[in-house]
Amino acid sequence: MLYVKNLIPQIAHQPGEFAKICGINLTTLAAKSPKNSYNTVTLMISPLISLPPRRYFMKFNLLQTLQASFDTVPNAKKPKSTPIVNNDADLRPNFWQNFSLFELTNSEWEALCDGCGCCCLIKYMDDDDETVEYTDVACKLMDCTTGHCQNYEHRQDYVPDCIQLTQDNIAEMTWLPSHCAYKRVFEGKSLPNWHLLITKDAAKTEKLMRAANIGVAGRCVSEAGMSDEEMELRVVTWVDA
Ligand code: SF4
Ligand code: SF4
Repeated sequence: MLYVKNLIPQIAHQPGEFAKICGINLTTLAAKSPKNSYNTVTLMISPLISLPPRRYFMKFNLLQTLQASFDTVPNAKKPKSTPIVNNDADLRPNFWQNFSLFELTNSEWEALCDGCGCCCLIKYMDDDDETVEYTDVACKLMDCTTGHCQNYEHRQDYVPDCIQLTQDNIAEMTWLPSHCAYKRVFEGKSLPNWHLLITKDAAKTEKLMRAANIGVAGRCVSEAGMSDEEMELRVVTWVDA
């Protein structure tokens, strides 16, 4: 079984190497993938390397919280930042209902993230119908106890394929969990009733998220040292795409 783990993301960073592996003409690669966007590359290479159905690997995140232990990250500096607390003064009333994602300020965009950490989990997408299965295996930079990235600010020094969700690529991120505020707002849906923007009470949100079975803290394992075979056995049902 051929996995594309860490191969698709690397194409954006090492197109020459990837082309060499697959025998792809780099000129063709560049022409078909001018922005090196994840989906463009995926669609292009799938027929070339005859992937088994249902199996390609994705890793993604835009977590904003920065606390954790740093034992597993060589030379990592502990971020000074604390988890982002929404400052209502920066946010227009009900901005998620009154404006499109393209019209949001940076503060509003960031306030949409609930910090669940699900987008840091390894997941598989069916190559044909794009059905997504999540595992409980998290990126190596994830602190599995807190569910936070251990070094968000410098994450790409350790995980080069961690990409940023933006207004420009949200349409391609069909694999985001169904509760994700970015996905919901993009699809014209309401925010979950437990979202901090609704409750305005962090403790209440935390309690409601736990009751709704949302979030990876305390129930994921690191991908570090795990084989592809082991990973494949760790598909879970508590993340719904
Ligand atoms: S899944 Fe969505 S809401 Fe959850 S951490 Fe990722 S971007 Fe934020
Ligand atoms: S580096 Fe890993 S843990 Fe950190 S945000 Fe990216 S996917 Fe998540």
